[in-house]
Amino acid sequence: MNRPRAATAARYIKSGWRHVRHFLGTPTARLAASYLLVVMVMSLSFSVVSYNTSSRELGRQIPPSSLFSTGRRGSANDLTAPRINDFLQDRIDEGRHTLLARFILVNLLVLASGAVLSYYLARRTLQPIEDSMEAQAQFISDASHELRTPLTAIQTTNEVALRDKKMSLNGAKTVIRQNVEEVAKLKALTDGLLTLARHEADGEELPYEPVSVQDIASDAMNRVMPAALEKHIAIDDQTPQLMVFGDRQALAQALVILLDNAIKYSPERTTVYVTGNKRSKQVVLSVRDEGPGIRPYDMRKIFDRFYRADQSRSAQHVTGHGIGLALAKKIVEQHGGEISVASSIGKGSTFSLKLPVAG
Ligand code: ADP
Repeated sequence: MNRPRAATAARYIKSGWRHVRHFLGTPTARLAASYLLVVMVMSLSFSVVSYNTSSRELGRQIPPSSLFSTGRRGSANDLTAPRINDFLQDRIDEGRHTLLARFILVNLLVLASGAVLSYYLARRTLQPIEDSMEAQAQFISDASHELRTPLTAIQTTNEVALRDKKMSLNGAKTVIRQNVEEVAKLKALTDGLLTLARHEADGEELPYEPVSVQDIASDAMNRVMPAALEKHIAIDDQTPQLMVFGDRQALAQALVILLDNAIKYSPERTTVYVTGNKRSKQVVLSVRDEGPGIRPYDMRKIFDRFYRADQSRSAQHVTGHGIGLALAKKIVEQHGGEISVASSIGKGSTFSLKLPVAG
């Protein structure tokens, strides 16, 4: 082999070995190795025990010399006995070798298939953990990004104000007002994040009980009424007397999110309709608005955390961080229900909560 070729081969081997070392250091490889170790210890122990037992059984095939002895010297039996014994001994040795070879082959097969199976099982075991860690990292990165924007705004406003040596009292009040507004946004965001994190934590038990849909609707409407009045938006409440099974506070919060969005994204002097009806074992609670509507592409994504549809269209000048619908979805799913949206551009959107009926 000439030198350049040898150098290339060495480079390949080095890089291959680096990959193998990297792979062996991964949690999947380590877990797979543990599984394989257990399988091999069991298979080898079984093989050793089986081999010893079979080998001992084979050894017992040689008849005792008394069986050949007639008591008379020089008889035919005395001549044939050693030859039969040799023959049997050869057969037994041969049998032992075949047995050993088979056990080795079986263990090699167990090693190969065990390695594949262990890797598959290790991937299956670790995949959900990896997914959840990835989701957590994404959540932290998105949340930090969302927190950074208002923090930067506060920092800039204050730095500019500090550099202004002749700031009037009115000017100072304006800066403080801007600060308060940004802090309020930060607080709303952190409250939303905390609630989402609480609902996402597995095992969070909500106090489920039969709750009236009308109570949920009136709780939610009380909370959004100031925002509706400000935009002269009427809320037409047509919720019937139905009972669902769940946590009143959490369900009211989910409805607040839908009503709040309907008010936020709709033009002034429009109406938001709240309706409810029963379908077999479910109650469907709907919020319909006369807003801008949502594009089909966005409809698939608006329930994802931090997703906001096209800023230039629906969310222009509308504050938010894209966590409301993710939280509403989480709450409804915790109740064994579903959230869905139907929308028509320029006509409005209808968000529906399907909840388990009580009783
Ligand atoms: P936020 O309202 O804080 O942005 P949400 O998770 O509540 O976050 O909503 C996600 C996105 O879905 C919004 O940014 C908006 O684009 C869209 N959206 C939600 N509700 C409506 C609605 N009623 N009409 C139009 N668009 C909506």
